[in-house]
Amino acid sequence: MRTSWRIFTIFGIEIRIDSSWILIFGLVTWALARHYFPSQYPHWPQEQYWLVGLIASLLLFSSVLAHELTHSLVARSRGEEVRSITLFLFGGVAEISEEPGTPAKEFIIALVGPLSSLVIAALFFGVWQGMQGINEPIAAIARYLSIINGILALFNMIPGFPLDGGRVLRAIAWKWTGDIKRATRIASVAGQVIAFLLIFFGISQILRGFFFDGLWTALIGWFIHSAAVRGYRHTLMKETLKDVRAKDLMDTAFKTIDGSISVQELIEDHILQKKERSFLVTEAGELAGIVCLEDVKTVPPDKRQDTKVRDIMTPKDQLAAVSPEADGNQILAKLASGKIHQVPVIEGGKIKGLVCRADILDFIHLRTDLGV
Ligand SMILES: [Zn+2]
Repeated sequence: MRTSWRIFTIFGIEIRIDSSWILIFGLVTWALARHYFPSQYPHWPQEQYWLVGLIASLLLFSSVLAHELTHSLVARSRGEEVRSITLFLFGGVAEISEEPGTPAKEFIIALVGPLSSLVIAALFFGVWQGMQGINEPIAAIARYLSIINGILALFNMIPGFPLDGGRVLRAIAWKWTGDIKRATRIASVAGQVIAFLLIFFGISQILRGFFFDGLWTALIGWFIHSAAVRGYRHTLMKETLKDVRAKDLMDTAFKTIDGSISVQELIEDHILQKKERSFLVTEAGELAGIVCLEDVKTVPPDKRQDTKVRDIMTPKDQLAAVSPEADGNQILAKLASGKIHQVPVIEGGKIKGLVCRADILDFIHLRTDLGV
């Protein structure tokens, strides 16, 4: 898990920054104050470069935030739940609850991002024109932001999934083929082709002596390539898991222990001998809770004889149980939200089985290996 911090909440959406953001923020401010502005406006006093650099860099990240916020607000107006936006090294990621349910929804949610960057570019262009000859630092900041937002809009419209342009392409292909997996594949391949072209171009720039420009281009290409591959796998996984039910995945031969046995007994008879790691705990034949190796570890050795399993188990009411009809994505969401490794499958108050994270992963691997 990466570290990120919440900075504020706007329109009910949590805005977070990833730890890598601090580094890139410092780098951008430094590059603006030491290189960009001094090269464009050589006659300013030293300290002014830093102030202008800092303001420009803050406005740049506000622009990125506005871009992500536009995606999020449009997604929400189309019925999607948006929990948070995390700002990363390259732009941001909005955590939208589901993959958009229809091509039309995906099309509009993706398209508004680059459009918002274009609008911001136009606004700063206006400020630049208005401030020219009146206030040079403000005009300089506005000029920079107008250019950079224009670049952001263009970059995001590159038709390679998962960039916004790639999502627009996927929406069109999805509408056309009626198959989201195929559409994602098309958009992902487009992204990989563009990524290879960028890497190739970057390397040729390096060979012609433009080392940093070339390295930068190649890095962006590499970033797009890995995102395209990951984005495709993620969609494939979600679509595959949509078709499977808890009742097909669950293990019905799970181990059940009584809540009255001691932790010491549990360790000796089950964990050490049979290498079992998680158990359903029953009291008088009814489900009472679940106990895992992690719970056992919290009990110091000298207390193990006197502590009962029922004292350390996660009680039934705190368990993230699923119904036999729950699909793979719902099970995975339960596992993630509770940070647990297994869920009981319950029907009519009775445990029918246990689904472990490993069962889901095996299922995904088998299906993707077989290409079905
Ligand atoms: Zn975007």
